[in-house]
Amino acid sequence: MPFKDKNVLITGISGFAGGYLAEALIKKGATVYGLIRKRADWRKPKNLVDHGIIDKINLIEGDLLDITSLASALDSSQPDVIFHLASQSYVPRSFESPLDTQQINCMGTVNLLEAIRMKDYDPKVIFAGTSEEYGLVISSREQYIRVKKRYGTIFPEPEKIPEIPIAEENPLRPMSPYGVSKVYGDYIMRNYHHSYGLKTIVSRAFNHEGAGRGKKFVTSVITRQVMQLKTNETDRIVIGNVSAFRDWSHVKDMVEGYIMLAEKGRLGDIYNQGSMRTNSVLSYLLLSLEEAGWAVARIESMKKGKVIEKPTEIDNSKMFGMKFEKTKIDRMLLEGEIEFDIKDKGIFVYTEKKKIPIEFDPNRFRPAEVPILFSNTKKIQKIGFESRYGLRDIIRDQLNYFLDPKNR
Ligand code: GDP
Repeated sequence: MPFKDKNVLITGISGFAGGYLAEALIKKGATVYGLIRKRADWRKPKNLVDHGIIDKINLIEGDLLDITSLASALDSSQPDVIFHLASQSYVPRSFESPLDTQQINCMGTVNLLEAIRMKDYDPKVIFAGTSEEYGLVISSREQYIRVKKRYGTIFPEPEKIPEIPIAEENPLRPMSPYGVSKVYGDYIMRNYHHSYGLKTIVSRAFNHEGAGRGKKFVTSVITRQVMQLKTNETDRIVIGNVSAFRDWSHVKDMVEGYIMLAEKGRLGDIYNQGSMRTNSVLSYLLLSLEEAGWAVARIESMKKGKVIEKPTEIDNSKMFGMKFEKTKIDRMLLEGEIEFDIKDKGIFVYTEKKKIPIEFDPNRFRPAEVPILFSNTKKIQKIGFESRYGLRDIIRDQLNYFLDPKNR
């Protein structure tokens, strides 16, 4: 299904991925409509201005919680495809405001489906699900014993250990109100396909980053502070849990995947979208320092004196039966050779010119954590998807973005 002259409606167009998706679709010749909430001041969404596409998009005012506004958005856009990206997507906020999160992510999603069902349009609907739906993924027997002790039950119990890389059939064990809300969206999409024949497809997108990523997400937290360090606006980096592992893709890969799903995805089906890598928050931080010009020689925990030489050295060993881009510190953390937690207080990073303190902020550790995400994306690869960007490409784009003082 080529996008030339197709009508596309994007919910969440003023969000991070929405802007990239709109830009890619405009390049393909689509007519793009975007749903935005009413703004008292008529300010234009910054991301669309930054992408240089603000004048090429038809913005429609509406609200996911107001079904009448959704019905009229369908009338004015007459969409062939809807990308439903709008949501409250920040995990810590979902703990602080669980009701808000469920309202927008669950009620908002079913409102959209109901509006489509009641109207005479038959668009494909691509739903932005998330790796947070998998949540608690079991990566080793030791970790299984640890989490079992901590949570009492694990449901469903794993059928194999490790449950990595994560395929679409993996169990869903969301660990935050955000994750729970996206499981709802995921299931309701299929339910509307089965019940009413709506043309829904679910993307379970693993983390995606790049220039313009929200400042509260960890990759921006890191690259923004690294740039502030570079310009002497700060003398330390403050961070939460550095031992978490994520599968970080470039947002540009992610939106190509969304488009591919609309073109070739099977209706009623689910597709993982990710990079087939897993890297620690600590690695992201150290590699960001390196990309900013500080080669890392050694790290040392502030308490307990744990020392690791050359933590960013490339590691080529297979893990979980796979070869992927990772560092020595990634391997050590994954194998349980080293651990960092709140009790360590932080880490000193030794570079040739500078000793950089990384402080652990206890407030940034979460009530419940997703320890590791690592995608198996063979299913979307079968319909032609290929990821184009490496970890350092993403880091460079984020550093460049924060080079501009007005973005910091
Ligand atoms: P998420 O995977 O959707 O929750 O994406 P985030 O970018 O918000 O968080 C990724 C991981 O980084 C989580 O395991 C967090 O606990 C960890 N993390 C460590 N320090 C921070 C921080 O200062 N901010 C955020 N947002 N996450 C942090």
